[in-house]
Amino acid sequence: MTPSPRPTLVVGAGQAGISLVAELRELGDDRPIVLVGDEPEAPYERPPLSKTYLRGEHDRASLTLRDAAWCTAHDIELVTADAVVAIERDASGGRAVTASGRELAFDRLALTTGATEARLPVDGTELGRVLTLRTVADADVLATALRDSRDVVVVGGGFIGLEVAASARALGATVTVVEAADRLLARSVTPVLSDFYLWAHERRGTTVLLNTQAVRIHGTGDHAEAVVLDDGRELSTDLVVIGVGALPRTDLATALGLEVDPRGIVVDRRTLTSDGVTVAAGDCTLGPNPYARGLSGPLRLESVAHATDQARVAAATLLGHETAYVSVPWFWSDQGDLRLQIAGLPHSADQLVVRGELGSESFSLLSYRAGLLIAIEAIGASADYVVVKRALERGMTIPADVAADPTVPLRRGLKTVDARTSDTIQDRPETGSSS
Ligand SMILES: Cc1cc2nc3c(=O)[nH]c(=O)nc-3n(C[C@H](O)[C@H](O)[C@H](O)COP(=O)(O)OP(=O)(O)OC[C@H]3O[C@@H](n4cnc5c(N)ncnc54)[C@H](O)[C@@H]3O)c2cc1C
Repeated sequence: MTPSPRPTLVVGAGQAGISLVAELRELGDDRPIVLVGDEPEAPYERPPLSKTYLRGEHDRASLTLRDAAWCTAHDIELVTADAVVAIERDASGGRAVTASGRELAFDRLALTTGATEARLPVDGTELGRVLTLRTVADADVLATALRDSRDVVVVGGGFIGLEVAASARALGATVTVVEAADRLLARSVTPVLSDFYLWAHERRGTTVLLNTQAVRIHGTGDHAEAVVLDDGRELSTDLVVIGVGALPRTDLATALGLEVDPRGIVVDRRTLTSDGVTVAAGDCTLGPNPYARGLSGPLRLESVAHATDQARVAAATLLGHETAYVSVPWFWSDQGDLRLQIAGLPHSADQLVVRGELGSESFSLLSYRAGLLIAIEAIGASADYVVVKRALERGMTIPADVAADPTVPLRRGLKTVDARTSDTIQDRPETGSSS
């Protein structure tokens, strides 16, 4: 009797992990698969955690991406509430050990370990009612705390901080956002959009303190009562939410001797790590992006689209297909009633076209570099977003003067970029992005 083949081991049962195993099956792989996740839940989506789920408008069951029954039906062994704590390679693949002591021999290996919330390095974060948000368990604790909080301080004016601030405001709390940088969302959006968000959040009653650091949290008994700021002020509070970024989970990659950067597990365009056989995908990775024009070096992207698209590539790579991650990055953020959609990477723009009136809360910002369209940030302007995302996927541009006139539909300005004269996108996919 021939022994059954060793399974493919996928460590991390989040957005990337479940997308990867689903794609393996989609591509016809019928070998055993074990998907290990340290959270008790079947894979679920995180975006609602700071938005509808936090406000009680989204039930828990509908967060689930694929449940245990789906995994069983697809012959995938889903292990939950158990972490892979040790791992090593051997001649026939490798072996992993879980926290519960289970030993898993594997043939092929994928790391989809995601990220964990960054710590705020100040005294007082261990107090009760000082919370962070990454998991559904965190969201449950935060939702309960929000119900009886009047003065909420959010430390960090990034996406999660601002989404939580908007949700807390919608639930009736008085909210102050404390941000160390001189603008909101500084790492992710153009300065014009940062200014818009400052105005929009303040208009909705949220206080935003820029250029301000929280230096200490103090309280009595077991819960926070005030956030001390670097200018000496104290904000009294009954709930502190810390949203100061997320750090890639790279410990297993380090244990395997793979190349790891503080920003993530280094992968190539096929999602292969430095050993040439292990793949990695999602928030834990640092990889090349063909749309990062004008930006030096690889990028770590934290978005559902990136995790999903990169996981699909990782599955194909595990099966030996020639493939590459070349998707247009895209992202959305709902901050209360404001919907932002971003396609492309606006960071290196040298020209910005404002299409529409910022004050109308329905406009788009088109980023250009060397005269070519590289990104859109759309607020309540889905139609513009869709046209630009497709344009980027197809290697097209829209002249800035056409884009600036909101009475002309963007699609009328679409123009093909001459690949011989443009360095816009290296390695453009023949067929466009999968997203
Ligand atoms: C509150 C919140 C709101 C968000 N909103 C948006 C949004 O609006 N739009 C958007 O595009 N993106 C959003 N994101 C980001 C998006 O959810 C992430 O980019 C995406 O979840 C990344 O998927 P991933 O699989 O790489 O990581 P994760 O979803 O974090 O999954 C990784 C999983 O691996 C597990 N794991 C790690 N190490 C081990 C181990 N050793 N053993 C077993 N399991 C392990 C982790 O516990 C986790 O369950 C949001 C994120 C959060 C937290």
